[in-house]
Parts: sequence; C-alpha cells; structure tokens
Amino acid sequence: MTQEQTLEHFRETNALLEGHFILSSGLHSPNYLQCALALQNPQDAARFGKAIALQVRTACVSGRIYGENFASEIETVASPAIGGLIIGFAVAQALNVRFSWTERENGKMTLRRGFSVKENERILVIEDVITTGGSTRECIEALETRGAKVVAAASIIDRSNGQADVGVPRIALVTLEVQSYKVEDCPLCKQGKTAVKPGSRMSK
Ligand SMILES: [Zn+2]
Repeated sequence: MTQEQTLEHFRETNALLEGHFILSSGLHSPNYLQCALALQNPQDAARFGKAIALQVRTACVSGRIYGENFASEIETVASPAIGGLIIGFAVAQALNVRFSWTERENGKMTLRRGFSVKENERILVIEDVITTGGSTRECIEALETRGAKVVAAASIIDRSNGQADVGVPRIALVTLEVQSYKVEDCPLCKQGKTAVKPGSRMSK
C-alpha cells in the first residue's frame, strides 16, 4: 500500500480533513486527522495491519530492526490504548502473534488486566498516529520496566515528518508534517477564514 493510497483512503473516510480547524489543543491547523474514522470498516483495518506487518517483516529481513540477528522474530504486538488498539490488533493478526496493550492508571502508562511479559520478550509497539511519540515512548517504558525488549515501533501515520524519536527503529505507512499554529500566528486567520471545530463541520 503506497503513501498516496493510504492518504486517499483517509480523505475518503473523512479521517483527514483539509480546511481551517481548531484542534483540541486550541491550536489552529489546515488539517485535521482522526484515524478512528479510517478504521471503521474491519476490512480496512486488516488491510492497514497487513501493510504495516509487511514493512516490519521487510525491515527485519533487511537487518534494519535486528541488525545481523534477523533470525529473531517479533513475539508480541503491544499498543498504547485507546488509539493503538484497533490497528495494533490488526498488525498482530497479520503477524500471527499475541496482542496486548498498555493504558493509563492514575495518569501513568502501565500493563493492566493481568497482561504480563517474559524476560526479553521481543515486542513491536503499534500506534495509529505518531505526533511527538509520547504515548509510544510511555508504552515502551511500561513494557521494558517489566523486562521485555521493544525491537521497533510503527504507526499508520507519522505526522512528525520523521522527527519523533522513540528510541527504537520506527516505521510508518505515511510520513507527513501537519502544521499547527497559535491563533495569533495562524495564516488562515490572517486570510479572514473562519476556523471550525472538526466535529461541527462533520455534523452538517
Ligand atoms: Zn486560524
């Protein structure tokens, strides 16, 4: 699946909007991304899962993930809840490995629900969108403090334009830069265009 095919699906499902938006952070942006909309159809989620699994396998074989030791294989996929759950499950299904997830407890990302990891268990961390890499890093930390070895991370979209550093090799189906501006610096506001909250536009 090419970057353009992925973006086309995001536009078709309104998961990627173009215009003038007020983000939940209060910043303004010409784009709005809501990955959940692109994954509503289970067959689409499965397709993205397979595409990520294929790129991960290719990176393993080329030595990008394991270096010389590509005989090692990923044993588990894990995702930070909630954003990573659907795509993480789909990647795990494509790789035919176990899937588990981390979630916040009193603000701290942790493994709950009786999930556990083995010493040096080789884990691939999957998220839907990487922006700063914060939740992927927190997920990695929660797994590694329990003895697992996170070998790579992947997402459908990397909106950091490749800049986010999560401390392990990283793969994304789409790499792009989503601009955001403080209201006083917003070029779209300066052009006199009205900013909308994405939900209000969708409900029209
Ligand atoms: Zn604006």
